[in-house]
Amino acid sequence: MHFLLSLFLLSTVYAADLPYDDQEFGCIGQAAADRYVRAFGVDVKSFGGLELCDGSRDTKKLLNDLYLIEGSTFEAAGEHKFIRGYVDRQNYFEWLKQETRGVRRGHDLPYATAYNSGGYFTMQDGWAKLSTLGRVGTIIHEARHTAGYRHYACTFGPYANSRTAGCDTSYEQGGSHAVEMEYYARVVLESKNLHPVYQSMARLMALGRSNFVFNKNPLQKREALLGLSAAGLVLVDGGQVYERALPAVPAEARLKRTSFGASLVAGEQSLAIDLSDPTEFSLTDDYSYYKLFQLPRDRAPTSVKSTEEVDIGNMRYFTVLSNEGRISSYNFPEGNWFAASNPVADAATFVTRAPDGQAGLFVVTTDGSILPFDPSTRRYGLPLKDRWPSDSAAYAMLGAQLVVLNAEGEVLDAESGVGVPSLAHYRFTELVNVPLYDAFEVVP
Ligand SMILES: [Zn+2]
Repeated sequence: MHFLLSLFLLSTVYAADLPYDDQEFGCIGQAAADRYVRAFGVDVKSFGGLELCDGSRDTKKLLNDLYLIEGSTFEAAGEHKFIRGYVDRQNYFEWLKQETRGVRRGHDLPYATAYNSGGYFTMQDGWAKLSTLGRVGTIIHEARHTAGYRHYACTFGPYANSRTAGCDTSYEQGGSHAVEMEYYARVVLESKNLHPVYQSMARLMALGRSNFVFNKNPLQKREALLGLSAAGLVLVDGGQVYERALPAVPAEARLKRTSFGASLVAGEQSLAIDLSDPTEFSLTDDYSYYKLFQLPRDRAPTSVKSTEEVDIGNMRYFTVLSNEGRISSYNFPEGNWFAASNPVADAATFVTRAPDGQAGLFVVTTDGSILPFDPSTRRYGLPLKDRWPSDSAAYAMLGAQLVVLNAEGEVLDAESGVGVPSLAHYRFTELVNVPLYDAFEVVP
């Protein structure tokens, strides 16, 4: 469900830009379709039969992807850590053709997006749910496997501590993840005719994936502070304070940390915020695990009261608190949900920072009890000694300083109660820590 694709401020859209939305591609000619089908060995029947016009049909989605790859033009635009020349910027289409024996649609590996067996790609249900950008990134990723690059067990992130081979050893290895990230970086920095929305998607996808798919992390992360007010978002990055416009979101939307930055989340729907560039579009969150709600999965939570994507130790978790006070946690290697926890009476919300400053995952109840939950064991700890102060909305870190958002919307030093001077004239309803990465710098 795409409930929002709305915000743009200054991005320039040229008529010559290639489309990014499946509904905007128009019909493809029979001859062009035949050429793609032959060149890539497309098993048209497995995609539901040839479809030249309807962008909601899987065959046309694949044809759209190939059209995008063939039609994109790139030009060198300076150095970037993700651009290493694994694939020549002028040569994506020919390279992809060389690395593809055949493409078919299958339903045999429901937790995967796609897989490559000897140059034959099988696109799964998850592939069909992706945006154009996500699908193009997937086929480019799969094509790299044809040259013999495989994955390895992950040392951190959602697939850590499992036997799932989902990660590359390093960016320098030049495997499927690196080739995929290089493509996204080229879209952001080097493309001459791709739509600004497609570019924004590429930046978010590059951040959302590169932060966990390489065992030697190519990104430097720093923690920033993000406040939500009626007027907009305020990002505090070290000594810098940036104001960001607020996309149109439902009144009940909550501001959440995500692995790529932040999202505004309302129930099962979420809007990704591109923190690095205020001129860019905000998009349905296909980049953090808030996207999980888009696919049916076994034992999915029955209702959504509060959600967190949270890193604890070397692991990443995605957890949901239901209206009944049960916690569901996603089992990444298995592609389904763990059985929900026992219910906590009067559970109100998750928090990830306690009043004493400790980080973790906690359930706060309506009477102010704070119950730690360990997502690795899916067990509750003993309630904290502190209760949640009724005049506190959130705790967060401003560098090394623990700050509190009070009920009036002011940000104060948590210990002294003195207002933070740089934020004195803002009134926030929410305050969260968010990660920023050095792959794409923050634009004022
Ligand atoms: Zn792969």
